[in-house]
Amino acid sequence: MALRFYNTLTQELQDFRPLEDGKVRMYTCGPTVYNFVHIGNFRTFTFQDILRRWLQYRGYHLNHVMNVTDVDDKIIANAAREQKSLEEYTSVYTKAFFEDAATLRLQQPEHVAPATKHIPAMIDSIERLVAKGYTYTNDGSTYYRISAFPDYGKLSHNDFSGIRSGARVDMDEYDKADARDFVLWKARKGNEPFWETPFGEGRPGWHIECSAMAMSYLGETLDIHAGGVDLIFPHHENEIAQSEAITGKPFARFWLHAEHLHIESQKMSKSLGNFYTLRDLLGMGFHPESIRYLLASVPYRKKLNFTFEGLKMAAKSIERLRDFELRLTSTRLPPGRGEAIAARSQEAIRSFEEGMDNDLNTAEALAAIFEYVRAMNSEINEGRFKEENRWDAARVLEIFDLIFDVLKPSDIALTAQVNGKGESVSLTDAEVESYIEERSAAKKSRDFARADEIRAQLQERGITLEDTKDGVRWKRK
Ligand code: AMP
Ligand code: ZN
Repeated sequence: MALRFYNTLTQELQDFRPLEDGKVRMYTCGPTVYNFVHIGNFRTFTFQDILRRWLQYRGYHLNHVMNVTDVDDKIIANAAREQKSLEEYTSVYTKAFFEDAATLRLQQPEHVAPATKHIPAMIDSIERLVAKGYTYTNDGSTYYRISAFPDYGKLSHNDFSGIRSGARVDMDEYDKADARDFVLWKARKGNEPFWETPFGEGRPGWHIECSAMAMSYLGETLDIHAGGVDLIFPHHENEIAQSEAITGKPFARFWLHAEHLHIESQKMSKSLGNFYTLRDLLGMGFHPESIRYLLASVPYRKKLNFTFEGLKMAAKSIERLRDFELRLTSTRLPPGRGEAIAARSQEAIRSFEEGMDNDLNTAEALAAIFEYVRAMNSEINEGRFKEENRWDAARVLEIFDLIFDVLKPSDIALTAQVNGKGESVSLTDAEVESYIEERSAAKKSRDFARADEIRAQLQERGITLEDTKDGVRWKRK
């Protein structure tokens, strides 16, 4: 069956085909850089990475734009409190975001678009809305009149026909079910940062950012627009209202939304304070691959309940696959190629692909891989898995890892270095011991390169190993 996605707009699973053959124009809402992002946010960004990788696997050439929201109410307030310019304040978190994204092996979108670098496009979009009669001003701010756009509500499937005309809101985020005219351009207040425009000094609202940047990079109609479910209303509803009012054309053909990551039955969020950053988890000794695996393993339209137990199980799952990979390279096998096993390997690839084509059902795709690995382990035990079947199995793992990207161990010298406050964290004794164990196992399986790598990485982090006849001793610098 063909590649299909659940489209929030039509509320149906639809076969995916881009407008232009072989090319996908995609826009995703990026981070608001007023703090370190948490692993709930990274659930959505990991889903977007899996989506990217699957589209590429299916042969599409991607043009993916992600914005970075580097001006909004919270950012302005925080920067003022710390007596910093917007850029001084946000650059720390923007940099941290991309470091964390790289640690989680998230591919970089083709274009990263910081809002403050695209103000002229936003001004242009607002001017077009003004010219078409979709706006009004109040106290120097410019608002979008949602009653002027009859389709308002089509994405969130809310009926807004009874809305109070003229009720408006200045804030970037506001309550569900409470449809209000939203701000396109906010009048300058006091010493806030501002830009000069034909409609006064001020700064853009959050929603116009995305409409203007998406259309300036990708044209009037996108193939895919994605984000977390909390963005459906009002953010994405407002993006549609703005963009379609300007162009008269559909803004995005497919709208994909990731469900939230929960912790103790609540959405993980900055405002509730119930969050972990990636740095927190690395500081506790968890590996980036385990976190990536956990975030990717639950299909994106299901809630993901975060637990440390889940994280440990993710590490175990990766270990099983790595053990199998090692077995493939280190076990003596009978010569030849078992045909049934070659066919079974093809079938595993097909089931993996079917799972992923089915709205990125990662749970189905993973089940195909683990069933295969279990079956192959017993084939090896029974002596039916032959020398040349190694390549069949290696191909299955390779395809799995093109998408999940967890088999290669992270360079520990580069991870677990900093805590949530950006301070350096030293390895705990237990962590050192576990690396020593990993090194001994590597030596035993004659993977001397990995053993040396571990020794060098520990050295870099101030831990010296000494091989004695009684085993390994270690000391801190
Ligand atoms: P923000 O930085 O708040 O604009 O959020 C960045 C992205 O993370 C958006 O796509 C949000 O929908 C998403 N997001 C926020 N909280 C969570 C969560 N607990 N689980 C999954 N995604 C989230
Ligand atoms: Zn957006």
